[in-house]
Amino acid sequence: MKIKFLGAAGTVTGSSYLIASGDDKVLVDCGLFQGESYCERDNFAPLPYDPKTIRAVFITHAHIDHTGLLPKLVKAGYAGPIYSTAPTRDFAKELLLDSEDILSREAEQQGQTPLYTAEDVEAAMRLWHTIGYKETVKAGGFEVHFIDAGHIMGSASAVIFAEGKRLVMSGDLGNENPPLIPEGELIPADADYAVIESCYGDRQHEDFGKRREILEDVIENAVKMGGALMIPAFAMERLQELLYEINFLVENRKVPRMPIFIDSPLAIRLTRVYEHYESFMNSEARKFMWQGRRELLNFPGIRLTLTREESRSIEQAPMPKMIIAGSGMSNGGRITYHESLYLPDPKSTLLIVGYQVSGTLGRQIQEGAKEVRIMGKSVKVAARIVSISGYSAHADQPRLLQWLSPARGNLKKVFVTHGEEKVSQDFAAKALNDLAVATEVPHLGEEVVL
Ligand SMILES: [Zn+2]
Repeated sequence: MKIKFLGAAGTVTGSSYLIASGDDKVLVDCGLFQGESYCERDNFAPLPYDPKTIRAVFITHAHIDHTGLLPKLVKAGYAGPIYSTAPTRDFAKELLLDSEDILSREAEQQGQTPLYTAEDVEAAMRLWHTIGYKETVKAGGFEVHFIDAGHIMGSASAVIFAEGKRLVMSGDLGNENPPLIPEGELIPADADYAVIESCYGDRQHEDFGKRREILEDVIENAVKMGGALMIPAFAMERLQELLYEINFLVENRKVPRMPIFIDSPLAIRLTRVYEHYESFMNSEARKFMWQGRRELLNFPGIRLTLTREESRSIEQAPMPKMIIAGSGMSNGGRITYHESLYLPDPKSTLLIVGYQVSGTLGRQIQEGAKEVRIMGKSVKVAARIVSISGYSAHADQPRLLQWLSPARGNLKKVFVTHGEEKVSQDFAAKALNDLAVATEVPHLGEEVVL
Protein backbone atom coordinates (compact mmCIF):
# COMPACT_ATOMS: atom_id res chain seq x y z
CA MET A 1 0.00 0.00 0.00
CA LYS A 2 1.22 3.51 -0.82
CA ILE A 3 0.07 6.90 0.43
CA LYS A 4 0.71 10.23 -1.27
CA PHE A 5 0.29 13.50 0.65
CA LEU A 6 -1.43 15.89 -1.75
CA GLY A 7 -2.31 18.65 0.76
CA ALA A 8 -2.37 19.62 4.43
CA ALA A 9 1.32 18.66 4.73
CA GLY A 10 3.21 21.37 6.60
CA THR A 11 0.05 23.49 6.39
CA VAL A 12 -3.54 23.32 7.64
CA THR A 13 -5.56 23.43 4.42
CA GLY A 14 -6.05 21.47 1.20
CA SER A 15 -6.45 18.04 2.87
CA SER A 16 -6.20 15.23 0.31
CA TYR A 17 -4.51 11.83 0.31
CA LEU A 18 -4.10 9.37 -2.57
CA ILE A 19 -3.89 5.77 -1.39
CA ALA A 20 -2.86 3.01 -3.81
CA SER A 21 -2.76 -0.76 -3.64
CA GLY A 22 -1.55 -2.30 -6.89
CA ASP A 23 -3.61 -0.63 -9.61
CA ASP A 24 -6.42 0.33 -7.22
CA LYS A 25 -6.51 3.92 -6.03
CA VAL A 26 -8.80 5.75 -3.60
CA LEU A 27 -8.82 9.34 -2.42
CA VAL A 28 -9.45 10.46 1.15
CA ASP A 29 -10.70 14.09 1.14
CA CYS A 30 -10.34 16.58 -1.69
CA GLY A 31 -9.96 19.94 0.01
CA LEU A 32 -9.45 23.51 -1.07
CA PHE A 33 -6.25 25.36 -0.21
CA GLN A 34 -7.22 28.47 1.76
CA GLY A 35 -4.84 31.34 2.27
CA GLU A 36 -5.29 35.06 1.78
CA SER A 37 -8.00 34.34 -0.80
CA TYR A 38 -9.96 31.36 -2.10
CA CYS A 39 -8.23 31.83 -5.45
CA GLU A 40 -5.00 30.30 -4.17
CA ARG A 41 -2.68 29.23 -7.00
CA ASP A 42 -2.50 25.65 -5.64
CA ASN A 43 -6.20 25.21 -6.33
CA PHE A 44 -5.66 25.86 -10.04
CA ALA A 45 -2.71 23.46 -10.49
CA PRO A 46 -3.55 20.37 -12.58
CA LEU A 47 -4.57 17.36 -10.46
CA PRO A 48 -1.47 15.21 -9.79
CA TYR A 49 -3.30 12.02 -10.88
CA ASP A 50 -5.73 10.89 -13.57
CA PRO A 51 -9.23 11.30 -12.03
CA LYS A 52 -10.54 8.44 -14.16
CA THR A 53 -8.21 5.97 -12.39
CA ILE A 54 -9.69 6.65 -8.91
CA ARG A 55 -12.08 3.94 -7.70
CA ALA A 56 -13.75 5.87 -4.86
CA VAL A 57 -13.48 9.08 -2.83
CA PHE A 58 -14.03 9.09 0.94
CA ILE A 59 -14.87 12.40 2.63
CA THR A 60 -14.14 12.68 6.37
CA HIS A 61 -16.21 15.84 7.01
CA ALA A 62 -17.86 18.82 5.36
CA HIS A 63 -15.35 21.63 5.96
CA ILE A 64 -14.29 23.20 2.69
CA ASP A 65 -10.59 22.46 3.26
CA HIS A 66 -11.60 18.76 3.01
CA THR A 67 -14.23 18.96 0.24
CA GLY A 68 -13.65 22.17 -1.75
CA LEU A 69 -11.93 20.60 -4.78
CA LEU A 70 -14.55 17.86 -5.35
CA PRO A 71 -16.36 19.87 -8.08
CA LYS A 72 -12.99 20.38 -9.82
CA LEU A 73 -12.33 16.61 -9.60
CA VAL A 74 -15.70 15.86 -11.18
CA LYS A 75 -15.19 18.54 -13.83
CA ALA A 76 -11.86 16.84 -14.64
CA GLY A 77 -13.63 13.55 -15.37
CA TYR A 78 -14.11 11.68 -12.09
CA ALA A 79 -17.37 9.70 -12.27
CA GLY A 80 -17.01 7.19 -9.40
CA PRO A 81 -18.70 7.23 -6.01
CA ILE A 82 -18.14 9.81 -3.25
CA TYR A 83 -18.78 8.36 0.22
CA SER A 84 -19.51 10.20 3.48
CA THR A 85 -21.96 10.18 6.38
CA ALA A 86 -25.39 11.72 5.69
CA PRO A 87 -24.88 15.01 7.61
CA THR A 88 -21.52 15.50 5.85
CA ARG A 89 -23.22 15.30 2.44
CA ASP A 90 -25.94 17.83 3.39
CA PHE A 91 -23.51 20.29 4.99
CA ALA A 92 -21.07 19.88 2.08
CA LYS A 93 -23.73 20.85 -0.42
CA GLU A 94 -24.44 24.15 1.40
CA LEU A 95 -20.73 24.89 1.94
CA LEU A 96 -19.71 24.03 -1.65
CA LEU A 97 -22.41 26.29 -3.10
CA ASP A 98 -21.31 29.07 -0.74
CA SER A 99 -17.64 28.66 -1.70
CA GLU A 100 -18.58 28.54 -5.40
CA ASP A 101 -20.22 31.92 -4.89
CA ILE A 102 -17.09 33.37 -3.22
CA LEU A 103 -14.76 31.76 -5.80
CA SER A 104 -16.68 33.14 -8.76
CA ARG A 105 -16.79 36.67 -7.27
CA GLU A 106 -13.03 36.60 -6.52
CA ALA A 107 -12.28 35.18 -9.99
CA GLU A 108 -14.29 37.99 -11.57
CA GLN A 109 -12.36 40.65 -9.60
CA GLN A 110 -9.04 39.08 -10.67
CA GLY A 111 -10.11 38.51 -14.29
CA GLN A 112 -9.77 34.71 -14.00
CA THR A 113 -12.04 31.83 -14.96
CA PRO A 114 -13.71 30.43 -11.82
CA LEU A 115 -12.40 27.09 -10.53
CA TYR A 116 -15.84 25.53 -11.00
CA THR A 117 -19.51 26.41 -11.37
CA ALA A 118 -22.72 25.61 -9.48
CA GLU A 119 -23.41 22.91 -12.14
CA ASP A 120 -20.11 21.20 -11.22
CA VAL A 121 -21.24 21.21 -7.56
CA GLU A 122 -24.55 19.62 -8.59
CA ALA A 123 -22.65 16.99 -10.66
CA ALA A 124 -20.54 16.12 -7.59
CA MET A 125 -23.68 15.81 -5.44
CA ARG A 126 -25.11 13.24 -7.90
CA LEU A 127 -22.10 10.93 -7.29
CA TRP A 128 -22.58 11.11 -3.51
CA HIS A 129 -23.49 8.01 -1.44
CA THR A 130 -24.07 8.18 2.29
CA ILE A 131 -22.96 5.46 4.71
CA GLY A 132 -23.25 5.06 8.47
CA TYR A 133 -20.38 4.78 10.93
CA LYS A 134 -18.91 1.22 10.91
CA GLU A 135 -20.52 0.40 7.54
CA THR A 136 -17.87 -1.20 5.29
CA VAL A 137 -17.46 -0.21 1.63
CA LYS A 138 -15.36 -2.24 -0.83
CA ALA A 139 -13.42 -0.43 -3.53
CA GLY A 140 -11.13 -2.77 -5.51
CA GLY A 141 -8.71 -4.26 -2.99
CA PHE A 142 -9.72 -1.76 -0.29
CA GLU A 143 -12.18 -2.15 2.56
CA VAL A 144 -13.06 1.16 4.19
CA HIS A 145 -15.29 2.22 7.07
CA PHE A 146 -15.78 5.38 9.11
CA ILE A 147 -15.63 5.90 12.88
CA ASP A 148 -16.90 9.04 14.64
CA ALA A 149 -14.20 11.75 14.89
CA GLY A 150 -16.21 14.08 17.19
CA HIS A 151 -15.02 17.22 15.32
CA ILE A 152 -18.26 18.52 13.76
CA MET A 153 -21.60 16.78 13.22
CA GLY A 154 -21.14 13.73 10.95
CA SER A 155 -17.32 13.95 11.02
CA ALA A 156 -15.37 10.73 10.63
CA SER A 157 -11.98 9.08 10.69
CA ALA A 158 -11.46 6.58 7.83
CA VAL A 159 -10.24 3.06 8.64
CA ILE A 160 -8.67 1.58 5.48
CA PHE A 161 -7.76 -2.09 5.13
CA ALA A 162 -5.70 -3.48 2.23
CA GLU A 163 -2.86 -5.99 1.77
CA GLY A 164 -3.36 -7.18 5.36
CA LYS A 165 -2.55 -3.71 6.76
CA ARG A 166 -4.79 -1.24 8.55
CA LEU A 167 -4.31 2.50 7.94
CA VAL A 168 -6.36 5.01 9.93
CA MET A 169 -6.82 8.56 8.59
CA SER A 170 -7.88 10.76 11.53
CA GLY A 171 -9.63 13.48 9.50
CA ASP A 172 -10.04 16.42 11.89
CA LEU A 173 -10.45 15.33 15.51
CA GLY A 174 -12.65 16.92 18.15
CA ASN A 175 -12.17 17.38 21.85
CA GLU A 176 -13.46 15.52 24.86
CA ASN A 177 -17.01 16.32 25.79
CA PRO A 178 -18.13 18.60 22.91
CA PRO A 179 -21.28 20.69 23.60
CA LEU A 180 -23.60 19.37 20.87
CA ILE A 181 -22.30 16.11 19.41
CA PRO A 182 -21.00 12.91 21.05
CA GLU A 183 -17.33 12.58 21.87
CA GLY A 184 -15.39 10.95 19.02
CA GLU A 185 -13.87 7.47 19.03
CA LEU A 186 -10.17 6.80 19.52
CA ILE A 187 -8.01 4.94 17.00
CA PRO A 188 -8.65 1.16 16.86
CA ALA A 189 -5.96 -0.79 18.75
CA ASP A 190 -5.08 -2.88 15.68
CA ALA A 191 -4.07 0.09 13.50
CA ASP A 192 -0.72 -0.41 11.75
CA TYR A 193 -0.36 3.13 10.41
CA ALA A 194 -2.00 6.46 11.24
CA VAL A 195 -2.25 9.86 9.63
CA ILE A 196 -3.15 12.35 12.35
CA GLU A 197 -4.08 16.04 12.20
CA SER A 198 -2.11 18.43 14.42
CA CYS A 199 -3.86 21.81 14.17
CA TYR A 200 -3.48 22.39 17.95
CA GLY A 201 -0.66 19.84 18.38
CA ASP A 202 1.41 22.17 20.54
CA ARG A 203 -1.13 23.48 23.04
CA GLN A 204 -3.82 22.75 25.59
CA HIS A 205 -7.30 24.37 25.73
CA GLU A 206 -7.31 25.78 29.23
CA ASP A 207 -10.85 26.93 29.96
CA PHE A 208 -12.47 23.75 28.68
CA GLY A 209 -14.42 22.65 31.74
CA LYS A 210 -15.53 26.20 32.58
CA ARG A 211 -16.61 27.41 29.12
CA ARG A 212 -20.34 27.52 29.91
CA GLU A 213 -19.78 29.52 33.13
CA ILE A 214 -17.48 31.94 31.31
CA LEU A 215 -20.09 32.42 28.58
CA GLU A 216 -22.75 33.02 31.24
CA ASP A 217 -20.55 35.68 32.92
CA VAL A 218 -19.86 37.42 29.61
CA ILE A 219 -23.58 37.61 28.75
CA GLU A 220 -24.54 38.83 32.24
CA ASN A 221 -21.84 41.50 32.14
CA ALA A 222 -22.87 42.63 28.67
CA VAL A 223 -26.47 43.07 29.82
CA LYS A 224 -25.34 45.05 32.89
CA MET A 225 -23.13 47.30 30.78
CA GLY A 226 -26.10 47.92 28.49
CA GLY A 227 -24.27 47.69 25.16
CA ALA A 228 -24.07 45.28 22.24
CA LEU A 229 -22.51 41.82 22.63
CA MET A 230 -20.95 40.85 19.29
CA ILE A 231 -19.87 37.27 18.63
CA PRO A 232 -18.04 36.57 15.36
CA ALA A 233 -18.73 32.89 14.64
CA PHE A 234 -18.03 30.31 11.96
CA ALA A 235 -21.28 29.27 10.27
CA MET A 236 -20.57 25.58 10.82
CA GLU A 237 -20.61 23.88 14.26
CA ARG A 238 -19.33 26.80 16.39
CA LEU A 239 -22.47 28.80 15.73
CA GLN A 240 -24.80 25.86 16.43
CA GLU A 241 -22.87 25.08 19.62
CA LEU A 242 -23.29 28.68 20.74
CA LEU A 243 -27.00 28.62 19.90
CA TYR A 244 -27.39 25.47 21.96
CA GLU A 245 -25.44 26.90 24.90
CA ILE A 246 -27.30 30.23 24.84
CA ASN A 247 -30.65 28.44 24.51
CA PHE A 248 -29.66 26.32 27.53
CA LEU A 249 -28.71 29.41 29.59
CA VAL A 250 -31.86 31.33 28.58
CA GLU A 251 -34.25 28.42 29.27
CA ASN A 252 -32.64 27.72 32.63
CA ARG A 253 -32.88 31.44 33.49
CA LYS A 254 -29.13 31.70 34.02
CA VAL A 255 -28.98 34.86 31.89
CA PRO A 256 -31.48 37.71 31.43
CA ARG A 257 -33.48 37.78 28.21
CA MET A 258 -32.43 40.09 25.41
CA PRO A 259 -32.77 40.19 21.62
CA ILE A 260 -30.34 37.74 20.00
CA PHE A 261 -29.74 38.35 16.28
CA ILE A 262 -28.50 35.49 14.12
CA ASP A 263 -27.14 37.52 11.23
CA SER A 264 -25.95 34.88 8.74
CA PRO A 265 -28.10 33.24 6.03
CA LEU A 266 -25.56 30.40 5.55
CA ALA A 267 -25.51 29.66 9.29
CA ILE A 268 -29.31 29.60 9.34
CA ARG A 269 -29.38 27.09 6.44
CA LEU A 270 -26.73 24.90 8.11
CA THR A 271 -28.59 25.00 11.43
CA ARG A 272 -31.71 23.65 9.68
CA VAL A 273 -29.58 20.66 8.60
CA TYR A 274 -28.47 20.19 12.23
CA GLU A 275 -32.08 20.09 13.34
CA HIS A 276 -32.69 17.29 10.84
CA TYR A 277 -30.06 15.01 12.41
CA GLU A 278 -31.16 14.59 16.00
CA SER A 279 -29.57 11.12 16.15
CA PHE A 280 -26.12 12.66 15.61
CA MET A 281 -26.38 14.79 18.78
CA ASN A 282 -25.09 13.82 22.21
CA SER A 283 -27.44 12.64 24.94
CA GLU A 284 -27.52 15.96 26.85
CA ALA A 285 -28.42 17.88 23.68
CA ARG A 286 -31.04 15.29 22.64
CA LYS A 287 -32.65 15.44 26.06
CA PHE A 288 -32.66 19.24 26.25
CA MET A 289 -33.64 19.91 22.63
CA TRP A 290 -35.98 17.14 21.59
CA GLN A 291 -37.53 15.89 24.77
CA GLY A 292 -38.07 19.55 25.68
CA ARG A 293 -39.44 20.21 22.13
CA ARG A 294 -36.95 23.02 21.73
CA GLU A 295 -35.37 24.25 18.51
CA LEU A 296 -31.90 25.62 17.86
CA LEU A 297 -33.35 28.56 15.94
CA ASN A 298 -36.42 29.21 18.02
CA PHE A 299 -36.15 30.30 21.65
CA PRO A 300 -37.06 33.45 23.60
CA GLY A 301 -35.31 36.50 22.17
CA ILE A 302 -33.91 34.96 18.99
CA ARG A 303 -34.31 36.82 15.68
CA LEU A 304 -33.08 35.63 12.29
CA THR A 305 -31.92 38.29 9.85
CA LEU A 306 -31.71 36.97 6.30
CA THR A 307 -31.65 39.99 4.00
CA ARG A 308 -29.15 42.81 3.98
CA GLU A 309 -31.92 45.27 4.98
CA GLU A 310 -32.87 43.13 7.99
CA SER A 311 -29.18 42.95 8.91
CA ARG A 312 -28.79 46.74 8.80
CA SER A 313 -31.97 47.23 10.86
CA ILE A 314 -30.25 45.56 13.86
CA GLU A 315 -28.71 49.00 14.44
CA GLN A 316 -32.17 50.37 15.40
CA ALA A 317 -32.84 47.66 18.01
CA PRO A 318 -32.53 48.95 21.60
CA MET A 319 -29.63 47.95 23.86
CA PRO A 320 -28.67 45.52 25.28
CA LYS A 321 -28.59 43.09 22.35
CA MET A 322 -26.54 40.14 21.14
CA ILE A 323 -25.36 39.85 17.52
CA ILE A 324 -23.91 36.59 16.19
CA ALA A 325 -22.55 36.86 12.64
CA GLY A 326 -19.74 35.62 10.40
CA SER A 327 -16.99 35.55 9.59
CA GLY A 328 -15.39 33.87 12.57
CA MET A 329 -12.14 35.84 12.23
CA SER A 330 -13.79 39.15 11.28
CA ASN A 331 -12.03 39.01 7.89
CA GLY A 332 -15.15 40.00 5.99
CA GLY A 333 -18.81 39.09 6.42
CA ARG A 334 -21.64 40.89 8.20
CA ILE A 335 -19.89 41.03 11.59
CA THR A 336 -17.53 43.75 10.30
CA TYR A 337 -20.41 46.22 9.88
CA HIS A 338 -21.51 45.68 13.50
CA GLU A 339 -17.88 45.96 14.63
CA SER A 340 -17.56 49.30 12.88
CA LEU A 341 -20.59 50.54 14.87
CA TYR A 342 -19.91 49.10 18.32
CA LEU A 343 -16.14 48.60 18.75
CA PRO A 344 -15.82 52.33 19.65
CA ASP A 345 -18.49 51.93 22.38
CA PRO A 346 -17.03 51.21 25.86
CA LYS A 347 -20.39 49.68 26.93
CA SER A 348 -20.19 47.01 24.20
CA THR A 349 -18.39 43.65 24.18
CA LEU A 350 -16.70 41.54 21.50
CA LEU A 351 -16.54 37.85 22.39
CA ILE A 352 -14.01 35.75 20.44
CA VAL A 353 -14.73 32.00 20.45
CA GLY A 354 -12.42 30.66 17.73
CA TYR A 355 -8.81 30.56 16.60
CA GLN A 356 -7.77 33.85 14.97
CA VAL A 357 -5.19 33.44 12.21
CA SER A 358 -2.40 36.04 12.28
CA GLY A 359 -3.07 38.93 9.94
CA THR A 360 -6.86 38.81 10.37
CA LEU A 361 -8.85 41.67 11.90
CA GLY A 362 -9.95 39.30 14.68
CA ARG A 363 -6.33 38.62 15.64
CA GLN A 364 -5.48 42.35 15.72
CA ILE A 365 -8.42 43.05 18.03
CA GLN A 366 -7.64 40.01 20.20
CA GLU A 367 -4.05 41.22 20.60
CA GLY A 368 -5.27 44.56 21.94
CA ALA A 369 -5.14 46.94 18.96
CA LYS A 370 -6.61 50.32 20.00
CA GLU A 371 -7.48 51.29 16.45
CA VAL A 372 -8.24 49.04 13.45
CA ARG A 373 -9.27 49.52 9.82
CA ILE A 374 -12.67 48.21 8.77
CA MET A 375 -13.94 48.62 5.19
CA GLY A 376 -11.30 51.28 4.55
CA LYS A 377 -12.14 53.37 7.63
CA SER A 378 -10.28 53.78 10.89
CA VAL A 379 -12.26 52.46 13.89
CA LYS A 380 -11.35 53.02 17.57
CA VAL A 381 -11.52 49.98 19.85
CA ALA A 382 -13.02 50.92 23.23
CA ALA A 383 -15.31 47.89 23.67
CA ARG A 384 -14.49 45.08 26.11
CA ILE A 385 -12.69 42.19 24.33
CA VAL A 386 -13.06 38.66 25.75
CA SER A 387 -11.82 35.30 24.39
CA ILE A 388 -12.99 31.77 25.25
CA SER A 389 -10.88 28.90 23.82
CA GLY A 390 -13.04 26.06 25.20
CA TYR A 391 -15.36 26.04 22.17
CA SER A 392 -12.65 24.94 19.75
CA ALA A 393 -13.72 22.05 17.50
CA HIS A 394 -10.12 20.79 17.25
CA ALA A 395 -8.45 18.35 19.61
CA ASP A 396 -5.67 19.84 21.71
CA GLN A 397 -2.35 18.12 22.36
CA PRO A 398 -3.48 15.90 25.28
CA ARG A 399 -6.52 14.75 23.28
CA LEU A 400 -4.41 13.97 20.16
CA LEU A 401 -2.07 11.84 22.30
CA GLN A 402 -5.07 10.13 23.87
CA TRP A 403 -6.48 9.38 20.39
CA LEU A 404 -3.28 7.58 19.35
CA SER A 405 -2.66 5.71 22.59
CA PRO A 406 -4.90 2.61 22.09
CA ALA A 407 -2.72 1.58 19.11
CA ARG A 408 0.66 2.60 20.52
CA GLY A 409 1.85 -1.01 20.81
CA ASN A 410 0.91 -1.81 17.21
CA LEU A 411 1.62 1.36 15.22
CA LYS A 412 4.57 1.11 12.85
CA LYS A 413 4.47 4.76 11.79
CA VAL A 414 2.42 7.88 12.53
CA PHE A 415 2.30 10.62 9.88
CA VAL A 416 1.60 14.05 11.35
CA THR A 417 -0.26 16.42 9.00
CA HIS A 418 -2.75 19.33 8.99
CA GLY A 419 -0.76 21.75 11.12
CA GLU A 420 1.66 24.64 10.72
CA GLU A 421 5.09 23.06 10.03
CA LYS A 422 6.54 23.80 13.49
CA VAL A 423 3.40 22.68 15.32
CA SER A 424 3.40 19.35 13.42
CA GLN A 425 7.12 18.88 14.24
CA ASP A 426 6.46 19.62 17.94
CA PHE A 427 3.61 17.13 18.05
CA ALA A 428 5.66 14.45 16.21
CA ALA A 429 8.43 14.83 18.83
CA LYS A 430 5.92 14.74 21.70
CA ALA A 431 4.20 11.57 20.39
CA LEU A 432 7.57 9.85 19.92
CA ASN A 433 8.60 10.84 23.44
CA ASP A 434 5.34 10.07 25.29
CA LEU A 435 4.00 7.08 23.32
CA ALA A 436 7.22 5.65 21.84
CA VAL A 437 5.71 5.55 18.34
CA ALA A 438 7.73 6.34 15.21
CA THR A 439 6.56 9.63 13.70
CA GLU A 440 7.16 11.59 10.53
CA VAL A 441 6.02 14.98 9.23
CA PRO A 442 5.58 14.36 5.48
CA HIS A 443 6.12 17.15 2.99
CA LEU A 444 3.69 18.17 0.29
CA GLY A 445 3.69 15.72 -2.63
CA GLU A 446 5.67 13.04 -0.76
CA GLU A 447 4.79 9.39 -1.40
CA VAL A 448 5.43 6.71 1.21
CA VAL A 449 5.27 2.90 0.87
CA LEU A 450 3.55 1.28 3.88
ZN1 LIG B 1 -12.47 20.51 9.98
